[in-house]
Amino acid sequence: MSWAELVDAELERQAVEWRRHFHAHPEASFEERETSDFIAQRLAEWGIEAERPLATGVVGHVRGPKPGPIVALRADIDALVMQEENQFDFASRVPGRMHACGHDGHTAILLAVARLLSSIRDQLKGEVRLLFQPAEERIHGGAEGFVAAGVLDGVDLVLGMHLWSGFETGLVSVREGPVMASTDEFRITVRGRGGHAAFPHQAVDALVAGAQLVCALQTVVSRRVDPLEPAVLTVGTFQAGTAFNVIPGEAMLTGTVRTLSETVREQMKQELDRIVSHSAAALGAEATLDYMDGNPVLVNDPAASRLMAGAAATIVGQDHLISVPPSLGGEDFAFYARRTPSAYILVGTRNAETGSTFPHHHPRFTIDERSLGIGIRVLLEGLERYLTTQGG
Ligand code: MN
Repeated sequence: MSWAELVDAELERQAVEWRRHFHAHPEASFEERETSDFIAQRLAEWGIEAERPLATGVVGHVRGPKPGPIVALRADIDALVMQEENQFDFASRVPGRMHACGHDGHTAILLAVARLLSSIRDQLKGEVRLLFQPAEERIHGGAEGFVAAGVLDGVDLVLGMHLWSGFETGLVSVREGPVMASTDEFRITVRGRGGHAAFPHQAVDALVAGAQLVCALQTVVSRRVDPLEPAVLTVGTFQAGTAFNVIPGEAMLTGTVRTLSETVREQMKQELDRIVSHSAAALGAEATLDYMDGNPVLVNDPAASRLMAGAAATIVGQDHLISVPPSLGGEDFAFYARRTPSAYILVGTRNAETGSTFPHHHPRFTIDERSLGIGIRVLLEGLERYLTTQGG
């Protein structure tokens, strides 16, 4: 029997129970203390050695008796700062916190995989490293911290997945190459000179300079980036002014830049810098740009993608294996993928019958729990295939 075939109804039932526990007790990025304790306790019960390299998050090591490669499996464990509107009995018990992205399911899936691996440890070659990663939902979050703490040392392959409400339960999407965007953040400060609204000639209007800047920034994607390259530049906030009859001396803008290529990312950063300084100068104002690198582009390794496509086809059938287009959303799994060959796949969790039709981060988001068993089996199948073909 394959490892995936060893997953029985009892393990699936436990995965559902764990998922509901995490769902009812959500913790935001870098606050995942109880979640981490829960995970560490389960791993200890199953005799899996574990460490906690950051204040939150857990890294487990399932080591086989024979040498072989090291494969890391990653689940993100954090919830969002938002109020849940679902009514079910395992809805969030913490005001202002909600598992609205499915990370409760990811954590339950990886726990189930851990439990199964602990029961077949004697057959293992090498090591399976279990990355229960905190703080995916923020810039400079858990993946960067985990990588800096050395969790990828010696790792040959990293596998990750996201439960995905965009398509039906039973479908799995695997794609080679870029799958998620780089997600940078910028802040622009425009400085002019304040004054009376009736005497604009005596002031330098930072609001008008900021407004020109917003329009000029629209030309970065439309006029400077190759039209065949996906790119987004969104100004998300614009603050200026305090009264109808006062010319503001300062304006503040923030926004995000997203691309699917590191080359375009670098180009956009330079275009932004050029436009910010020159556009403001044209009106006698000054503008400064703070550009903050977020997640890199998440790129799936070709061989790892083929491995996971094969694994997914075995579990859900070739006709349920799809390849959805890349997204300009971000994912800090990219920090693993840029260091180590990786595959990041999407597991469908959309089902009208279970009410799982809301988009991620919606106050009524929920998963179809049937997708947990699929996620468990696909990960185990990919793992077994890799360790049997690459194992020493
Ligand atoms: Mn997510």
